[in-house]
Amino acid sequence: MIRAAEFMLRYLRARRGTRWPDQAAFDRWRESRVVRHVARVRRDSPFYRELWEGIPDADWRAFPEIDKSAMMAGFGRLNTAGITRAEAFAVAESAERSRDFKPALRGITVGLSSGTSGNRGLFLVSPAEQAAWAGTMLGKMLPVSLLSRIRIAFFLRANSNLYESVGGRRLSFGFYDLLDPLDAHIRRLQAERPDLIAAPPSMLRALADASLSGRLGGIRPRRIIAAAEVLDPLDRAIMERAFGQIVHQVYQCTEGFLGCTCAHGTLHLNEDLVYIEKAYVSGKPGTFVPIVTDFSRRTQPIVRYRLNDLLVERAAPCPCGSPFTAIERIEGRCDDIFYASSRQPGAQPVPVYPDFVTRAIIGASSEIQQYRAVQTAPDRWTIELDLRDGDLRQAAETRIRQSVGALCERLGCIVPALSFAPFARMPGERKLRRVERRYVP
Ligand SMILES: [Zn+2]
Repeated sequence: MIRAAEFMLRYLRARRGTRWPDQAAFDRWRESRVVRHVARVRRDSPFYRELWEGIPDADWRAFPEIDKSAMMAGFGRLNTAGITRAEAFAVAESAERSRDFKPALRGITVGLSSGTSGNRGLFLVSPAEQAAWAGTMLGKMLPVSLLSRIRIAFFLRANSNLYESVGGRRLSFGFYDLLDPLDAHIRRLQAERPDLIAAPPSMLRALADASLSGRLGGIRPRRIIAAAEVLDPLDRAIMERAFGQIVHQVYQCTEGFLGCTCAHGTLHLNEDLVYIEKAYVSGKPGTFVPIVTDFSRRTQPIVRYRLNDLLVERAAPCPCGSPFTAIERIEGRCDDIFYASSRQPGAQPVPVYPDFVTRAIIGASSEIQQYRAVQTAPDRWTIELDLRDGDLRQAAETRIRQSVGALCERLGCIVPALSFAPFARMPGERKLRRVERRYVP
């Protein structure tokens, strides 16, 4: 009963949208929420109690930052459900192996984020938090109210309790396993005709290609939602052409439901759920690393947690009038910033942001269908390409060399050796990173 009430409350609140008369009122509201939240966290979590010793709640911005490794190292003392890291891993991993998708420990849902092994994050969610999440997510993302019937196709790497909590009489929810072949997805989509498709951009792109070549049949989803991977400008343009609508986005990770698009298609941070401090990077205006304080989750509190993501603020305000920060683009992971040698002897390596690399490549040729750029050594990038017309490969490579050369000139760094290869990747394989650094500087 509490869960149903929590679900409806969050759903209606998200549906209603903004409820503050102005920015100052919103800022006062969220500040008071954070201060109240950290007082509770200090009481319930031994990890944070020790970390914040001597710093009052009102000075919460002075609390030390944490990151994934700190959270995982302190996991057992950080969460307020008394669940150890070993216990949580055992439950989540065995569920993943058996694909039973209902891992829970003493009533708490245990999830494991995707990621390289050894670097996977655990998350714990209580039934009330799960209901709140589902209500908020649907309230923010459904194109119609819950009173209409709606069929959702949700592409995931592994299902989870979290997603199965979303359901009801009018809502039918289909889980599509990303590991299944594309043809199987197409057949099922044709049979189920979903109103809403939520998937990682690489899968949406494969569906967009199928649609453009006439293989998707008459599927007309009312909404397309990209999640779990960076939405690349190249993919976005192709998807919008194929589906004839704007592509919506959900920005979510183990650390919380961090953002989603408004009716105008602008990504806004969910600042009614999380407080996001912005650590601006140097050399790229408006680009920051988010430091997250989630003031709605208590089982696994997230306070001043530094993400590994790079976000770009939108220069102009969004016409929707939301007080929540508008984001131009999620650019990628901090770990994927390329580094190049400076032209000045003895100077620090120069960061080459993923967005710079993307624009240098896709701006060089309109023939590019697919690309990936991988930095494999300090002075070496490999660029994988798939072109509309294979005969123009030589010309495209020359143009990319010129455009990377111009980029390095602008940044004052030495031009890396470029090698080219065909784009080789199947959709669903693993998370697609179009710009990826594979060496540690
Ligand atoms: Zn907006």
